[in-house]
Amino acid sequence: MKTYISLWPAYAPQLPFPRSLAILGSTGSIGVNALSVVAQHPDLFRVAALGGGKNAARLAEQAKLFRPGLLAVLNEATAHELRGLLPAGYAPEILVGPAAYETVAAMPEADLVLSAIVGAAGFLPTLAAAKAGKRIALANKESLVLGGRLIRAACQASGAVILPVDSEHNALFQALCGHNGDEEVARLILTASGGPFRGKDAAFLASVTPAQALNHPNWSMGAKISVDSATLMNKGLEVIEACHLYGLPVARVDVLVHPQSIVHSLVEYVDGSQLAHLGVPDMRIPIAHCLCYPRRVNLDMPRLNLASAGSLTFEAPDETLFPCLGLAKAAFAASHSHPVALNAANEVAVELFLQGRIKFLDIPRLIEAALSRHAALPENCGADELIDADALTRRETLAAAFD
Ligand code: NAD
Ligand code: MG
Repeated sequence: MKTYISLWPAYAPQLPFPRSLAILGSTGSIGVNALSVVAQHPDLFRVAALGGGKNAARLAEQAKLFRPGLLAVLNEATAHELRGLLPAGYAPEILVGPAAYETVAAMPEADLVLSAIVGAAGFLPTLAAAKAGKRIALANKESLVLGGRLIRAACQASGAVILPVDSEHNALFQALCGHNGDEEVARLILTASGGPFRGKDAAFLASVTPAQALNHPNWSMGAKISVDSATLMNKGLEVIEACHLYGLPVARVDVLVHPQSIVHSLVEYVDGSQLAHLGVPDMRIPIAHCLCYPRRVNLDMPRLNLASAGSLTFEAPDETLFPCLGLAKAAFAASHSHPVALNAANEVAVELFLQGRIKFLDIPRLIEAALSRHAALPENCGADELIDADALTRRETLAAAFD
């Protein structure tokens, strides 16, 4: 696999300040953290657009503060509620429906797009931003898992650049310092907290509840990624994300469990050096790094104090108890479209688990079944075929869950 230098910001043209920002998923955990960075540095940004899902109240609060000219929501009911909450004299354009996020992603007024919708719904908007040549701060890892090949090709054609918001990939980006992946990097080492069930046994996992799975030891995140952290699927998706971002084969991306979440990932070079990135587990650090790159800005938050942090420990992941990590690696090795099935089955299974309709250990079982059903799509297939495969896997996984 080649190194995809079009994704490397070191080669990107400078983006002047103030930067004009569009945020997709502004009402979620990443979106809220991003707006808190923007609020700390109002001179560096103009907010051109905010896209929320169905949370009209939070979107209205954000819109009142940042006054974008464009808002996007998922349906008419949310748009109606939103209109009623905006103050007199402020009448932004409100776009409605899934296609609205693609319009926001490609809008000429924004030069920086934060892609922070959760799940496969983030794929087409991210692809639209890539085609439009935007600088993309990418939190939505599922879009690379689903259509990494198409997104990379779009970036190469348009000159779009992806900066990774995901803390591990942002750590790798910082530790890579522009070095060439193919020749100088021996391997990438993604750290993982191990999630709330690290060290438990199969009997314990068989009866865990959604509330227990959502109780992440170190990070405060949205529901879907919290469950993904508990199954280790989050790390599996991140291995695939790293392969797409840095052009390395899956065999050169390792996972290391580090329960304290202070070392955010490491790069091992061919000379044996390992470079790590350390910091408190707070997403405002990688978000600010991406939004302001290459400038470093002050962040008003607690600093890492290694003396009080005490011991940092590391261990190998337990891939027998947490099979989702191995399933993700196997899917990426199987074909370019097996990750579509992996991701779709995971999204359905996580949702069913959160609704209390299936057990925690049904999640890997349903994903494994979806992977064995999936027939690889042709290498040159387009976005429509990927979306169709995603929809088919969702239908089949739903049916399989209640067989
Ligand atoms: P979240 O659930 O808190 O927020 C999701 C956002 O997407 C909300 O604004 C929601 O309204 C919107 N949304 C949901 N479904 C939508 C749809 N179908 N169409 C349009 N908008 C929709 O999620 P999050 O934790 O902020 O995660 C967002 C993304 O960032 C995910 O891909 C996640 O893997 C990634 N990420 C998150 C973190 C974190 O700390 N939260 C860290 C790394 C990566
Ligand atoms: Mg991460």
